[in-house]
Formats: sequence, structure tokens, C-alpha cells
Amino acid sequence: MYGVTYYCPHCEALVELQREGYLADKAVTPFPFEGWAYVSPDEPFEDREDVDGVAFTCGEDGLLKDEESEGCGESFYLSFVKFEDGEELDPRKPSERVEIADEGPQSTRGPSGPSGPSGPSGGFW
Ligand SMILES: [Zn+2]
Repeated sequence: MYGVTYYCPHCEALVELQREGYLADKAVTPFPFEGWAYVSPDEPFEDREDVDGVAFTCGEDGLLKDEESEGCGESFYLSFVKFEDGEELDPRKPSERVEIADEGPQSTRGPSGPSGPSGPSGGFW
């Protein structure tokens, strides 16, 4: 066991978590990743199939490194790297893909004419 420190993303208080080193950290964020399962720091979280991260409550977990700091009481989340079918999952990818899809302007024109797929150029002349 060894202590790993993390900064609260809200107030930058330093917390220390005892780790065994099974899992690689992915990120510390002020919000949970969608699809990640979090437990509180006093529950077993390493080497567990069903736990993907730790949910801290700043100052209320008793993990603050600086004893004079009180924490802000906000929640933040340590997320471990998570694999599925041998590939690393990235919680940021799904939303990026949605934004890339740009069929917007063209597909709204489609229904206006019976010419269908050839719509844009055919209807113009
Ligand atoms: Zn804080």
C-alpha cells in the first residue's frame, strides 16, 4: 500500500488515497464519467470488476493531506482506466462522434421534392 495524492478540482485541496497499484488512473474530474461505477474511498475499489473509480467528498472523507484544510464538501471523482474487449474506453469519444455528424442542412431539404436523393441540384434549376 502506498499513498497517492489528488487535487480536488473544486478547491485544490490535496487528498491522499491508499492504493495498491492494480489500476491505472485515468482522470480526476468534478463529475462522474458516464458508464463508470464509483464507490466511496473506504470501500474496496482495486482489483474489482465492478468498480471503475472512487467518488470523493472533499473534506468529508477524512483524506485531506493538509490537516489545516477543511475541504469544500463538493464531490469529485477519480476514474480508473477502463477496458472493454481489450480496448481502452474513453468517455469523451461518444459525444465527439455525435458532434461530427453533419447531415443537418442537406437532409432537411430532402423531403421537399419528389426527386428524393438527387434533390439539391435537381430542385435548383
Ligand atoms: Zn474541495
